[in-house]
Amino acid sequence: MITLTEKNKIFKVFMEMTYGCNLKCRHCYLGTDINHVQTRFTLEKAKSILDELKAAGVVEVTFTGGEIFSYPHALEVIEYACDLKFLVTILTNGTLITEKIADKLTQLPISEIRISMYGTKEFHDRFVGIEGAFDKSLHALQKLNEKKKNFCMASSVVTNECVDSLLELHQMLENRELDIV
Ligand code: SF4
Repeated sequence: MITLTEKNKIFKVFMEMTYGCNLKCRHCYLGTDINHVQTRFTLEKAKSILDELKAAGVVEVTFTGGEIFSYPHALEVIEYACDLKFLVTILTNGTLITEKIADKLTQLPISEIRISMYGTKEFHDRFVGIEGAFDKSLHALQKLNEKKKNFCMASSVVTNECVDSLLELHQMLENRELDIV
């Protein structure tokens, strides 16, 4: 049971739905077993946590992982949070967003989706440890933007290593009228 008072009220919660992820980013804090599909919450547990958060007055929920879309009930949980009228944001690497998932996401009242991108294709794939990851993330970013404007953008962490490559990425996305934060 989540008990909050006026003094310790929580506005925003991050829900890390799974440790599973299909990438192997250098900076990932989840450790070496990241590719094990290890689900943290059952669907029922995730829903009951959202019920408690709502009752406790939480306003915004950010879903992440691991990779949120490697969690088998991701869409159901996101939809449930939308039904409860949370401000919903999603952090994802974008590589597992299929046409069907993109359709569903654009139909839901989601505030924001951020897709992690770290630089040019060569840099990005090296940085996340998987060849072809850049193309999949970019494809998801484009697809979501085609279906719905102003709710999906690229986001990045800035390091000494990636700063030059990020500038190139920024220009490339700008040319395609895509946003990065
Ligand atoms: S996409 Fe996120 S969860 Fe997956 S390896 Fe990279 S940082 Fe870790």
